[in-house]
Amino acid sequence: MPTELPKKHLFAVPDGLIYLDGNSLGPLPKSVPGHVNKMMLDEWGIQLIRGWNEADWMGQPARVGNLIAPLIGAPMNTVVMGDTLSIKVYQAVSAALSMRQERRVILSDTGNFPTDLYMVEGLIDLLGDAYELRLVEPDAVGEAINDEVAVVLLTQVDYRTGRLHDMETITATAHDAGAVMVWDLAHSAGALRVDIAGSKAEFAVGCTYKYLNGGPGAPAFIYVRPDLVDEVKPVLSGWLGHASPFAFDLTYQAAPSIERMRVGTPPVVQLSALQSALQVWDGVDMNDVRAKSIALSELFITEMATHCPDLRLLSPRDPLLRGSQVSFCFEHGFCAMQALIDRGVIGDFRAPDVMRFGITPLYLDEDDIIRAAKILHEVLSKNLWKDPKYQQKTRVT
Ligand SMILES: *Cc1c(COP(=O)(O)O)cnc(C)c1O
Repeated sequence: MPTELPKKHLFAVPDGLIYLDGNSLGPLPKSVPGHVNKMMLDEWGIQLIRGWNEADWMGQPARVGNLIAPLIGAPMNTVVMGDTLSIKVYQAVSAALSMRQERRVILSDTGNFPTDLYMVEGLIDLLGDAYELRLVEPDAVGEAINDEVAVVLLTQVDYRTGRLHDMETITATAHDAGAVMVWDLAHSAGALRVDIAGSKAEFAVGCTYKYLNGGPGAPAFIYVRPDLVDEVKPVLSGWLGHASPFAFDLTYQAAPSIERMRVGTPPVVQLSALQSALQVWDGVDMNDVRAKSIALSELFITEMATHCPDLRLLSPRDPLLRGSQVSFCFEHGFCAMQALIDRGVIGDFRAPDVMRFGITPLYLDEDDIIRAAKILHEVLSKNLWKDPKYQQKTRVT
């Protein structure tokens, strides 16, 4: 391995379990339960309503946003937390559309996560027929950007294949054509070195329960390029995005800062968990994370090619074109994944036939990868997945 990231001891992964699903739900950092417990007893329990001021719960969405900022290459006070990623996509795309009122096309790709597309569909329903969501293959995005396009909405790392978009080039192409750029960093934040400021994109959004380990339901983040912060339309104009919520004015006036992208009451307990979870990044260089992610992914792919020839690599073979996950197609992928999970190796499955493995260097090492490959080899070579108990469909895959 080129680098060591001595962070594994900070995570509460059960002994013997190999967790290859940090791209979907990061594991529990050990500091979180104590921190949240103390927060509940000292702040909620004792301060009660006074916590909004005394513990500054009111400032928490911007404070935690400032902990996310360095992880995505954003300056201070350009990121704020709240709501879910679906909501933040809606806010970013609506705000972007209002910056290009003469244009009607929202361009995205067929590799995007469906909720991003569904949110745009819903928005278009509201705005009227003149608007169009135009979808092209991921490789065709560059050439599809033209002067009809108001907004380019892309997820940098494809949730299914792990294919990585070239953020700088696509953003520059969008800007050359006069379009506004919105990046979804759901599978980038905590996985790759992101330079959102350097890309000059207007908006970025992302979630914190994947590579940032904020826990199930952890709130999303939104970034607005600093020169736009004072003019951008928040669209979901809730009271906590108001310039002075406690003036209780009858008309909305957006806050003169990134806080205008807040909507309603923040999830204080969940934000407190996230704040503690983010401590694992102290002293971590994203270049080291990336280097180790590539080394582990290459090892996994090589092991698979040698021992599991029935699996077809779906992710790009070139590590520079991949995010921090590796996916394989296998006709019986769902059952094989259940058999694998039953043997202590957790990945996940995405319809129709994709077995997905998140490569998360903070708590995975070479040994884990080799053991996981060995167990998967056993599941496939002995047809263990054929056991009827692995055929049962579940609500979440
Ligand atoms: C995980 C993910 C989501 C999830 O959205 P939520 O509103 O947090 O449920 C949305 N978009 C992308 C690209 C994702 O990867």
